[in-house]
Amino acid sequence: MNMSRCTKELISVSAPGSRPRQIARRYALHFEPLMFLAILLITFLAGDGRTGNAQTENSASFLRARGLLVAESKGDSSARSRPLPPQLSAVDAARHQDEPLKSIRLTRSHKAPRARPKLVHTVTYEPAIQPRLLISLRATGLRASAGGLVCELPDWGEWASATFPYLRNLRIDGQPQKLRSDGTIVVPRAFLVDGELRVSYEILVYPLASVEHQQRPLLPYHSRDHVFAFVQNTLVRLRVAGASLDVTAIVHVGKTNDTVFTGWAGLGSGPQAGELAADDGIFALGRPIRHTVVNAGGARVEVAQYADATDATRAIADIATALLPTYARATGQKSSGVVRFVVEESSSEEISNGTTTAAGIVLTLTKGAMTTLAETGQLPDSIKRLIAHELFHCWLGAELREDGSLVWFSEGFTDYISLKHSVAAGVISPARFAERMLEIERLARAQAAHGRPAFADLSVNWREDGAETIAYRAGALLAFLVDVRLHERRHKTVAEIIRALFRGESRKYQLSQIRDAMTTLGLQDVYKEFVEGSDLPAARSLLTAIGYDEAKEPAALTYLGIETRLAGPMSTDDVVPAVVVEVDPKGPGSNADVLPGDTIVGYGSRRVNPPELRSDVPERYRFGLNRIPSGAKSVPLDLLRNGKRLQVTVVPVLIPGGQRVSLRWNPERGKGFFEV
Ligand SMILES: [Zn+2]
Repeated sequence: MNMSRCTKELISVSAPGSRPRQIARRYALHFEPLMFLAILLITFLAGDGRTGNAQTENSASFLRARGLLVAESKGDSSARSRPLPPQLSAVDAARHQDEPLKSIRLTRSHKAPRARPKLVHTVTYEPAIQPRLLISLRATGLRASAGGLVCELPDWGEWASATFPYLRNLRIDGQPQKLRSDGTIVVPRAFLVDGELRVSYEILVYPLASVEHQQRPLLPYHSRDHVFAFVQNTLVRLRVAGASLDVTAIVHVGKTNDTVFTGWAGLGSGPQAGELAADDGIFALGRPIRHTVVNAGGARVEVAQYADATDATRAIADIATALLPTYARATGQKSSGVVRFVVEESSSEEISNGTTTAAGIVLTLTKGAMTTLAETGQLPDSIKRLIAHELFHCWLGAELREDGSLVWFSEGFTDYISLKHSVAAGVISPARFAERMLEIERLARAQAAHGRPAFADLSVNWREDGAETIAYRAGALLAFLVDVRLHERRHKTVAEIIRALFRGESRKYQLSQIRDAMTTLGLQDVYKEFVEGSDLPAARSLLTAIGYDEAKEPAALTYLGIETRLAGPMSTDDVVPAVVVEVDPKGPGSNADVLPGDTIVGYGSRRVNPPELRSDVPERYRFGLNRIPSGAKSVPLDLLRNGKRLQVTVVPVLIPGGQRVSLRWNPERGKGFFEV
């Protein structure tokens, strides 16, 4: 489906595990949009069941104790946090809002609807004992004569192969049914004689950070106070060949004492009305801990936070409202309505990620990111980039779609364009831009060393481990190259290609359209070399071309007085395992009793940005010089000696001899580049 899940590394780059990557492969699958008018009823019945009562009580007092953030108005922006009504009655959620908040839509004309069957989804969260979502779909106005009706719950997030139970008690018109392994079942015509259909089932929901959740992070999960889910793998849809209606859903939350947040209608309590534009979106049942709505510069952003941590809603909304107008200007496509974010807690300590759907963006943030926000008042740059990246997927990803063969474009170009616009909007500094582009190049080159498939090769599975890195990183480098070329030649930007795709007849774009756009823009040579060919653009020369000045800065080296020869494969970027061949008798290594013949297999933490060695650095005793952090007070060396493992602690000495070539943004020389 048209979702893009984007994992971002935090400070020290740690590759995401294989599980998320395997799942990522699925994202590229495209499903025909659901072709019916749909009504979605969502009911939160926390009051039912033994633990349910306790939870409701806890939740209410918990929230009362904290209160909800009321953000201040500032400048030309206004923000408000709506206090959640303590008692819910069956009233329209719109009454809790100053005006209806419609989901983001890029302005475009819609096809006239044809047939109008009606679909009503009812979702109930049952938290007692074995927490589960009780879901039923009632379809009316179906035509038996149409035939070929398929009931489908896509295997997005790979629920079908999960080792734990997920979908349970599926019934169609009361009769037990089983979906095929592809998540579909052809509905027998006999069921359609009355033009109606009722599908009911349960989805088991596991706790945040549980083994089940870690294995299948895209399936619904719950915390103490809420359940979060994607529409894609929770709400069955009906497909009929030939039907071509946009999906419209009206959400009701009624007869309960709690709250729903949906990507298509926002926060509501009581019956909630809203449109579900496609069979794709996010929803959460239960009260958010923080909630903010910001209007600024014509952009509207709503953020609901379920992570119990520092309030990030305003910070996220501010970044999004700063970026939205620049994205609209660049692409020529204005957004209307509200962009909605849900903030969830990451079950990992290291990896924050985001997923953009046609109706709502979910950001899953680490505790570390929240701590940074608490301590500095700012989200880390990696999270700012993540927000910018996900937000641009509203244009390239959710609106403009590819079939999975152009991940290098949908992800790489999104990554670059969002990064550049983050500088334009003042979210990221020009210095960070340069650092990030150099980092992207390092990652791309490390991966490309194992062979880089050509982007024009439509048979590549870009969601596979190595290929995915290439797609994201080399794709971003290519976008940078295209941007610089267009800036130099015609004072245009890479967004011209996005504009060209929007001029296409369909929102599904093909490689040929990218080729044509590049040709029209005079970039045939770039297409040949970097899309049909496998070259990688060099970030440094592009950076100096657009206005960064190079400056050499000295950097200290970390001296251990140990000479080694590498005992591992040359292809890796690491300096261990290495066999000690000589030890400086007066050096730190000698003091720690490191002996010739020892094999060094580990040396603690690595230097993040290793400096180069100047040519006047002595040839001997170079082990670790530019690899061990210059701030290290002691270095734990893991050794193999006579087949036994031991660790010694070396107290290093700092010596001169390292240098870094840094890039400094020169606003005079670079005038115009970041003005979009
Ligand atoms: Zn992405």
